[in-house]
Amino acid sequence: MAFPTDLEIANAVKPKKITKIAKKLGIDKNDLELYGKGKAKIPLSYIDPEKIKKNKLVLVTAITPTPAGEGKTTVSIGLVDGLNKIGKQATAVIREPSLGPVFGIKGGAAGGGYSQVIPMEDINLHFTGDFNAIEKANNLLSAAIDNNIQSRTKSIGIDPSTVTWKRVMDMNDRSLREVIVGVGDKNGVVRQDGFNITPASEIMAILCLSENFSDLKERLGKIYVADKFDGTPVFAKDLKIVGAMAILLKEAIKPNLVQTLEGNPALVHGGPFASIAQGTNTIIATKMGLSLSEYVVTEAGFGADLGAEKFLNIKCVAGGLSPDAAVVVATVRALRHHGGAHKNDLQKPDLEKLKAGFPNLEKHIENVQKFNITPVVAINYFPNDSDEEIEFIINECEKKGIKAVVSKAFAEGGKGAEDLARAVAEVADANETNFTPLYNHSAGIQEKIETIAKEIYGADKVNFLAKAKRVMKDLEKKGFDKLPVCMVKTPKSLSDDDNKLGRPSGFSVTVRDFEIASGAGFIIPMLGDAMRMPGLPSTPAAEGMDIDDNGVITGLS
Ligand code: ADP
Ligand code: MG
Repeated sequence: MAFPTDLEIANAVKPKKITKIAKKLGIDKNDLELYGKGKAKIPLSYIDPEKIKKNKLVLVTAITPTPAGEGKTTVSIGLVDGLNKIGKQATAVIREPSLGPVFGIKGGAAGGGYSQVIPMEDINLHFTGDFNAIEKANNLLSAAIDNNIQSRTKSIGIDPSTVTWKRVMDMNDRSLREVIVGVGDKNGVVRQDGFNITPASEIMAILCLSENFSDLKERLGKIYVADKFDGTPVFAKDLKIVGAMAILLKEAIKPNLVQTLEGNPALVHGGPFASIAQGTNTIIATKMGLSLSEYVVTEAGFGADLGAEKFLNIKCVAGGLSPDAAVVVATVRALRHHGGAHKNDLQKPDLEKLKAGFPNLEKHIENVQKFNITPVVAINYFPNDSDEEIEFIINECEKKGIKAVVSKAFAEGGKGAEDLARAVAEVADANETNFTPLYNHSAGIQEKIETIAKEIYGADKVNFLAKAKRVMKDLEKKGFDKLPVCMVKTPKSLSDDDNKLGRPSGFSVTVRDFEIASGAGFIIPMLGDAMRMPGLPSTPAAEGMDIDDNGVITGLS
């Protein structure tokens, strides 16, 4: 019998009442803001600084992934169910999916198999409207910019050719990447603009780094949008609409409570891209989770060179968070890939290729250790993994004093993640981690980049193209140099070259340009192209979807 689809599995489970899930967390049902039957928002008053300090934060990261994804979300959700099964009170705290990937190629982001969060359809579609609110706040700023440019009486002198702020929409639509606005009679000033996808909006990054409304407004006000004709920068606050933008985000700032298939709590909140932003859920949701349960399991996008690095150096520093353990998700198939296995052979057992690819995992383990955090390796099990391959990973990790544990959470849910849960709880409870960021935010821009490139990627040297040098000087002049760096780099390699698999050495990386997210509070060094508005593939996932007269959806994954 074929393994059921994610949707079939999700639909076969009778969800618990969301008020019941809230009760597990000690939330009074009268405080819950219900969104239909299975979703609710939690008021920020439930955040408790004392509990945050006491309870345990577990970061789930991964080896250098193949495009299919190695299963961080699936393992995160399975681990939460596993922890609850062994008697620990745990909550999953993860990102909200974007419609772009849902209808495009990757599918939703609500986990997979027997490790999912539900209601899966709602979470993957409009959910509680947070993305919508972010889009509106973003586009209000766009409208205000163009309104000011065309105004004869209120113009603050924005040079239309310098506007970096783009409009956003939550859809994969490559034809909107570059657009001309203001065409037509009396429709404002004609200029080139463009659309980003909503998770690439700086508003998303800001929402995810904010602690409360005043912090949110402060960050919104600091968004750099353009230059004036005299060369001085224009910030969102200069357009006097920060209060209005914050109003639009008044519900989006509250974490969304849902449940796993096994009826354990999950907070799904915020979803910044891992490519040009921090790639992890809101600080508020992480803190809410830690205020309400003993263990929080959370995920950061891509491999540990990107997601974990940004999570630790940007988010944890901004939020004063300190992880107690990290899970590095590895798959046998990805290690075969790093060892040189051909695309068509990735499903076949191949101990030699696996051995050749193992150094990739080794490097990600070392990277986590550089932050003084103890990693646990989760081998996300696929049916064609051979015993020899799995044993090899476990033994090699053991030689380094690291536990590697098979997770069968995809096929078995929490039961398949009990061993992993025990290993993770042991590390988290040992209180031996002593999180230290890799660099000091006040270091120079070049120094920060070099630290990450050498320590985390394993590069020998960082080259700066002429343009990058020029922009770096300008960023220093504008006073942005004390911000942390949010690196843009291919997720397919530890280096900045897709083709360098495994654990490359003796290479240099090249910074081509910079962008600035001064509201979110980071500088963006560009070591590769950033996908800000993906396109649909020739056969988008959307083509296989339908809904019948009873409202039953098919084809969503
Ligand atoms: P990530 O969060 O690392 O991107 P996901 O957890 O979203 O990865 O998993 C990527 C895809 O792979 C999902 O469609 C998921 O259902 C599937 N998947 C994950 N683990 C397994 C597994 N062990 N067996 C089969 N499919 C899996
Ligand atoms: Mg994921």
